[in-house]
Amino acid sequence: VQAYCLFCKSKKYVYTKKHATLINWILSSFCSIILSFIVFGDLDFKSVLFLSVFIAISEVFIHLRWRISVICHECGFDPIVYLRDPEAAAQIVKKKLQRRSNDPANYLKPPLKVPIKVISDLKSERIVSIDRLTPQQKKLLRLNLAQKSNPDSKRDQQSNKREAMTPSNIS
Ligand SMILES: [Zn+2]
Repeated sequence: VQAYCLFCKSKKYVYTKKHATLINWILSSFCSIILSFIVFGDLDFKSVLFLSVFIAISEVFIHLRWRISVICHECGFDPIVYLRDPEAAAQIVKKKLQRRSNDPANYLKPPLKVPIKVISDLKSERIVSIDRLTPQQKKLLRLNLAQKSNPDSKRDQQSNKREAMTPSNIS
């Protein structure tokens, strides 16, 4: 199923299947019956053991496939880790984005739509997607990134998990 990363809005494909289904049970039963005839020469009660092994293997495979498909391949955002420990998820994303900005293969790709924390004059803080910024805000953001060391900057480029990001992270 096609989905979008909750963090950077990149497209990704997610497997909705989390566990072994009826099809897997039928296939596993079929395989264990065949294996039973090969090993015992007959339908043996011991082939139930084969069935449980086949089911266990397919269960592990399906679950791993689902688990890996949930993670964003662009920014590394992992919703399951995020639910359990937002700070840990933020660290993973930070590392992944750092690696991404160092990878020459990504130099020509369009920048990721990492959410921006907007701090207005009234000290109110908002987290918005890059798409929602006005052209003026975008200009300010570019200025802000250009002079990141300036402490007077009104807008802080941060992820929605309150980790500081360097300008290279969004390029
Ligand atoms: Zn992402």
